[in-house]
Amino acid sequence: MDMMSFPIDVVNPSGAVILGPDVVCDGFADGPSGRVQTHIHKDHMDGFETSKGLQQIILTEPTRQLLIAEYDADLPYRTNILALREFERYAIGSSHVTLISNGHMLGSVQVLVELKDGMRVGYSGDFFWPLDNAIEVDALVVDSTYGSPDSVREFSQGECEERFAVLLRRLLARGPVHIRAHRGTLQRALQIISDDVGCPIVASKRLNEEVAVYRNFGYGIQPLITHPSETAKTVLADGYYVRVYGTGDKNPVDLQSGSSIKLSAFFSRRDKPVLEHSERSYCVAMSNHADFFGTLDYIQATGARFVVTDNVRGPQACRLAFEIQRRLGVEARPSSEMASRGWGARPG
Ligand SMILES: [Zn+2]
Ligand SMILES: [Zn+2]
Repeated sequence: MDMMSFPIDVVNPSGAVILGPDVVCDGFADGPSGRVQTHIHKDHMDGFETSKGLQQIILTEPTRQLLIAEYDADLPYRTNILALREFERYAIGSSHVTLISNGHMLGSVQVLVELKDGMRVGYSGDFFWPLDNAIEVDALVVDSTYGSPDSVREFSQGECEERFAVLLRRLLARGPVHIRAHRGTLQRALQIISDDVGCPIVASKRLNEEVAVYRNFGYGIQPLITHPSETAKTVLADGYYVRVYGTGDKNPVDLQSGSSIKLSAFFSRRDKPVLEHSERSYCVAMSNHADFFGTLDYIQATGARFVVTDNVRGPQACRLAFEIQRRLGVEARPSSEMASRGWGARPG
């Protein structure tokens, strides 16, 4: 078969992932009657309002609840929003959709679509590696956030978490600590703080509501103190606390006292889980994304014979397509849509 005839692509500047005639993921495109929402990160939410009016929206229950906490009061009452269980096979048009966890954050999934002729196509979404279950497909759209051979981490995420806990305890002894991270990574950190550190945690009302959803789904996160409030005022004056900032929260502008930790692997060094920018400022390479070798391992695990690399959400799509062909001997090309956000776009 001509490899280019696999009906998969990423088609508009906001990154709508096409999987055959019936399904689009993480963006709006004209035609498909269903939209899969793989997770709630902003770079996957484009056109959601349009989709809500025109398409069947398919997601997991945690994603549905996170969306309600974040965006829209009318979601609970909409009949075109369908939460699937993991591995449940759902018929839409002439296709069948199955959602399987991809370890990226609460509720996040890979998408398998079985087409009428038996062809299996899929989308990784943003994914972590290793995974228990990779989708098995003929053709795959893969996230290319860490698609370059430079994006290698020679340490495990377990090691990062340990180093984070040690660093946090050391910094707390000197004053308050401010922690910034993306959704999902931040909730991992909150579990570690709750388990290992035990100090008051201050967060915005918005973040508090988001964390409540994680707690519903089994995350062991202690109660957070909402800021602003009287209690928060007392804790801030006391000076022994962690303050956390998630997506959508205003970041600290000028820290009068204490230190800051950013949780991100984006500018990390391959051999260093912790980077010290100054005595008061650190970055820990906690990430919910597979690195370069994890990405190749994932592609192999899916069995795909043809791969499209997402050229909208990562600047490394061309490089990744090149490496897939060279290292795996699998046909690959970047998606036809170019990145609209340009260089410097951050993974979400
Ligand atoms: Zn994401
Ligand atoms: Zn993303």
